[in-house]
Amino acid sequence: MNLGFEIIAVDFDGTLCENRWPEIGNPNIRLIDYLKKRQKDGDKLILWTCRTNERLMDAVNWCNDEHGLYFDEINENIDSVKYLFGNDAKKIYADVYIDDKASNHLTMPFIKDVGKLSDGYHTFDGLYAQRRVLFATLCNIFRNSSWKSRRHSDGEVCFGGDWFIVGIDTPEGSYTYHYRMEYWDMFDCPVLEVGREWDGHTEEDVTRLLSLENRIDNCNAERYSRSGDHGGCKYENRVEETK
Ligand SMILES: [Mg+2]
Repeated sequence: MNLGFEIIAVDFDGTLCENRWPEIGNPNIRLIDYLKKRQKDGDKLILWTCRTNERLMDAVNWCNDEHGLYFDEINENIDSVKYLFGNDAKKIYADVYIDDKASNHLTMPFIKDVGKLSDGYHTFDGLYAQRRVLFATLCNIFRNSSWKSRRHSDGEVCFGGDWFIVGIDTPEGSYTYHYRMEYWDMFDCPVLEVGREWDGHTEEDVTRLLSLENRIDNCNAERYSRSGDHGGCKYENRVEETK
């Protein structure tokens, strides 16, 4: 069936968040960002979950309010599918099903022991640790272009409070990651009251970091300014300095 877009049906517990039913676990940020991008590109999202009533509303509100993820339908086929099928089948029709119980699921962070999965050379845990160290190094070198905050730009604490956002402003735009608070001190950069507003960048925009090369000549100057007044730092809502 060619509708000109794809329909993605996504499960909630164990998929959009860590499975702590009936509570809501930590978010699967990679998947949430992926779905938002797909929807932005024109695809349709259906929340496909066994949750009902109050628990369902909790899940929907969590997606909407805390992650800006809005569904085209909730446990319902989209209208154009009903129209084309001439009925409303019990099975949700989708081009892609994302579910922690699926047999050919995408690899997601909350699948048990996914961190130990390896391509034969590196595990997910290992690669994430390497990425964290490399990004911290970059932030610490380009300190006056970097920032971190416990809150998103709307003032909400990141993912319930055990996370922070850290970013670098490059000549091509900003690039950010989220980390758990245990890694806060790795990033020796100005602390903002709230993070900068997300400009829509996705993981494909990681190439923005390459544009920092254009600032490499200023790098030493930035380092020397650290003990001074941080002359290049332009953030009004900076609240504290790290060590
Ligand atoms: Mg599930």
